[in-house]
Amino acid sequence: MPDVVIVGGGISGTAAAYEIARAGHSVTLFEARSLAAMASGWTLGGVRQSGRDPAELPLAKAAVERWGGLDEELDAATGYRRRGNLRLARTEAEIEVIRELVVEQRKLGLAIDYLPDNAAIRAIAPAIGSSILAASFCPGDGHADPVPVVRAFAAAAARHGATIRDGTGVRALQRTGDRVTGVETASGEIVSADQVIVATGIHAPELLTPLGLDLPLRVKLVCVLQSVPLPPLFEQVFGVANADCAGRQEVDGRLRVTTGIGDWPFEPASWTLDALAPRAADITALIARVTQVLPAAADAGIARLWGGLIDLTPDALPAIDAHTGLDGLIVAAGFSGHGFGIGPVTGEILADLALSKQPRFDLSPFRLDRFAREPAAGAALTLHG
Ligand SMILES: Cc1cc2nc3c(=O)[nH]c(=O)nc-3n(C[C@H](O)[C@H](O)[C@H](O)COP(=O)(O)OP(=O)(O)OC[C@H]3O[C@@H](n4cnc5c(N)ncnc54)[C@H](O)[C@@H]3O)c2cc1C
Repeated sequence: MPDVVIVGGGISGTAAAYEIARAGHSVTLFEARSLAAMASGWTLGGVRQSGRDPAELPLAKAAVERWGGLDEELDAATGYRRRGNLRLARTEAEIEVIRELVVEQRKLGLAIDYLPDNAAIRAIAPAIGSSILAASFCPGDGHADPVPVVRAFAAAAARHGATIRDGTGVRALQRTGDRVTGVETASGEIVSADQVIVATGIHAPELLTPLGLDLPLRVKLVCVLQSVPLPPLFEQVFGVANADCAGRQEVDGRLRVTTGIGDWPFEPASWTLDALAPRAADITALIARVTQVLPAAADAGIARLWGGLIDLTPDALPAIDAHTGLDGLIVAAGFSGHGFGIGPVTGEILADLALSKQPRFDLSPFRLDRFAREPAAGAALTLHG
């Protein structure tokens, strides 16, 4: 019997598997599809501290420390580049948003600069268009290649003895009294464990609701466009003040750009790939926005388009919690469009919780029961990416 079972093979689950296995404990990870099949593969791949909620900033700062050493630690190329994040203002109103963001984030101790004009922006990123008026610049932010990262965590976990069972879904959690004791797989196999970590992104409520636990998620759609490889254009991640587009250039030269967060009128339990197809109007609007930011990308050939789903909680913060009212159950979901960058630290926290160690972060903002205690606020928008 493994000490720990993890359900979900995205960055949260695989990073946790790595930490638990390297601490010498037995761990089995179940992934219904393939590793990084959902948000951790759909993602832009931004690793940012800027624009974070104060509750998440300590995790994001610690994650940046971890990212710098991950290639060596995991013995794999993660594509991590620490070249900064530019958040751009395209109108006078957006200038005010950016100014305020810089003031607020500096108060929280983040090193972030205000770039007051186009020349200051182009001194850092010459490819940025001449109509961009101002920007914030957080030099400690960066980006990484998501699928290789998840595979690297899983491979390193396996080298430390973890069992990775991709293609094996979990149908239900096993419960005895006030304790979760294991999982039942889609084929009916029962696997017992001392601790079960649920890291299943938008699918988390399907496992939690039958146990009487409420994780209120609104599932949102973000569309992603990936170009053919282009010559080097820029090294940062860019976003915009109202979050209606973001992008980066991947290590192989492809642009990977995303729309803002939009509605998705389907149920997570029954989605199919068709339900993720980006709408033509969204892609047309995205191309126009990206072209304003990066005029040199205007004629870039499109290699791939996809839709990605966001597990948005009412306050746009995740649930990372072992105080579920059920011993042996740990929840890590609801990352609300920004769980990739903090993934390495999420893994560390989940390992601490599973192994009864005190995590080095204040996790009270991430309690699952806050949703039952407080009325759902309904965060209007979160800066994904
Ligand atoms: C378009 C887009 C852009 C984004 N950009 C950024 C960004 O720039 N920076 C950032 O930090 N974050 C970003 N995010 C958010 C980030 O990608 C996610 O928060 C993060 O990847 C969540 O990882 P996860 O492991 O918690 O969940 P997921 O990656 O969704 O993993 C959950 C896994 O669980 C599996 N699963 C589900 N149910 C079961 C079951 N019953 N049994 C077994 N397995 C199951 C799924 O197949 C899936 O692989 C973005 C997200 C999207 C969609």
